[in-house]
Amino acid sequence: MKVYLETMGCQMNRLDSELVTASLRAAGHEMVDDHGQAEVVLYNTCSVRRHAEEKVYSRLGGDSRRKAHHRPRLILGVLGCMAQREGQELARRFGGLDIVCGPGQLARLPELIAAAAAGGRVVALDPDPIEARRAERASPAIADSGISDLKSGDGGADEADFDALDLARDPSPLTPTGQAGEVFDSPKGRPLGPLTGVRVNAQAYVRVMKGCDNFCTYCIVPLVRGPERSRRPERIVQECRRLVDAGVTEITLLGQTVNRYRWSDGGKTVRFSDLLACVADVPHLRRLRFITSHPLDFTDDILHIMAGRSNICEYIHLPPQSGSDAVLGRMNRKYTRGRYDELVDRARQIVPGVVLAGDFIVGFPGETEADHEASAGLMRRSGFKNSFIFKYSPRPGTAAERNMPDDVPEEVKRRRNNELLAVQQQVGLAHHRSYIGASAEVLVEGPSVRAAKQGFEPTAERTQLVGRTRGDHIVHFLGPQSLTGQYVRVRITEATSLALRGEKEEEKEEKEEKEEKEEKEEEAV
Ligand code: SAM
Ligand code: SF4
Repeated sequence: MKVYLETMGCQMNRLDSELVTASLRAAGHEMVDDHGQAEVVLYNTCSVRRHAEEKVYSRLGGDSRRKAHHRPRLILGVLGCMAQREGQELARRFGGLDIVCGPGQLARLPELIAAAAAGGRVVALDPDPIEARRAERASPAIADSGISDLKSGDGGADEADFDALDLARDPSPLTPTGQAGEVFDSPKGRPLGPLTGVRVNAQAYVRVMKGCDNFCTYCIVPLVRGPERSRRPERIVQECRRLVDAGVTEITLLGQTVNRYRWSDGGKTVRFSDLLACVADVPHLRRLRFITSHPLDFTDDILHIMAGRSNICEYIHLPPQSGSDAVLGRMNRKYTRGRYDELVDRARQIVPGVVLAGDFIVGFPGETEADHEASAGLMRRSGFKNSFIFKYSPRPGTAAERNMPDDVPEEVKRRRNNELLAVQQQVGLAHHRSYIGASAEVLVEGPSVRAAKQGFEPTAERTQLVGRTRGDHIVHFLGPQSLTGQYVRVRITEATSLALRGEKEEEKEEKEEKEEKEEKEEEAV
């Protein structure tokens, strides 16, 4: 069948969509980019903020009407966090909805589509995340790893299900369809969409853990993604090897709190820094990244491994959320402003040239002007390359939603959001300007979508290319499209608050040689 899959939310969802795409293709389905042509329309959804959910309601409303009036055989499905959060309720609300599939059930999607094609309506949800935690606590499947209440994957029969989709992954290029949703890694925290339309084969995400047990009071993730569980390290390394053998050169390890990764087995414990070292050793892996890190668990062993391995990129996404101790306490972030500042200082000391990015929430319950100023101060002090700034959105079932009135008025949230954006703009500009004149290694992601929209006319030899440095800076430069997926050196000539512009180095040398020659000719005349 022709399947259209649209992805909202974070990198975890994007990876899920890639894996789902591969499994649907393997089951004989065809992925299409045109929503109108599709026989199956799937939304991989995000529940982190209400805004993301509203987008899905609006899409489902339109699709249900289309189905009722013109396309009775259209199969409609909601996957991921919203499916898990709303479950049967979603199916009741949208009569045309055929599939509701929680994030832990995605491996079953081909089977669910077959059931829907046969006329069934299917709701496949993960076990209740709170109950699942209780059950794990009652009969821990593996010795506790020593840090708070972390769990490794249990190593039993359940383990095969736990990372079934990851293991079945086809390492050939994956190009999921519709990426129109909110993408957290857009500078300024605003949806930007993909930089190039297609992620190049050179890059891949690899999941190292699932779920989260941190229970930040504002956050729905622990309620929809379930308990925190790490994958067996051998399996992660094996997946990375297969990807590199298939041509991948840059791997990003993914976890909601990736640095809390921990695997215990036979009296031995693999910490996140150990895992980083093992993956960094995969032959021919040129770049290794990881997102997202929690400040609480960012221990110095991780910084030392980053400094010691040349293929680990000097980039840390380290969300502070707030610069005020009072707000951090109410958010249950378990660190103080002082500890965050110290961590930033140690990171700068131990990892030369480290680049930092942040997330902030404005208008959290009880946030005062002084708290807000403290966030702005932290932003300035940390010198973030970019920050994702979100207005607080109460999420059903979270501790903040249940116990703290959403007392910062919408217009105040909007103003604080704009003020932090303005501070980040200054900080980002200063940060990016510091690279002018430097030579950067850029992994080329392809022709720039934005340049195409702005009417740039490409030729075979020269188009506007976009890529990323090791520090995750976006770099624009002119060059042939054939450079996509390759590493080139770019001399940085200009900077904005969000990106760099430069010239491919050989070209610059060629240009300088030509100018020198012309000068000499002029002198000779
Ligand atoms: N695990 C990551 C961490 O602890 O930093 C963050 C994961 S969360 C999916 C991505 C970002 O969404 C968070 O860093 C936070 O800034 C934002 N976020 C989460 N819940 C939110 C809420 N209820 N309202 C506004 N922003 C929220
Ligand atoms: Fe959500 Fe906090 Fe877990 Fe991040 S660490 S996913 S913000 S609960």
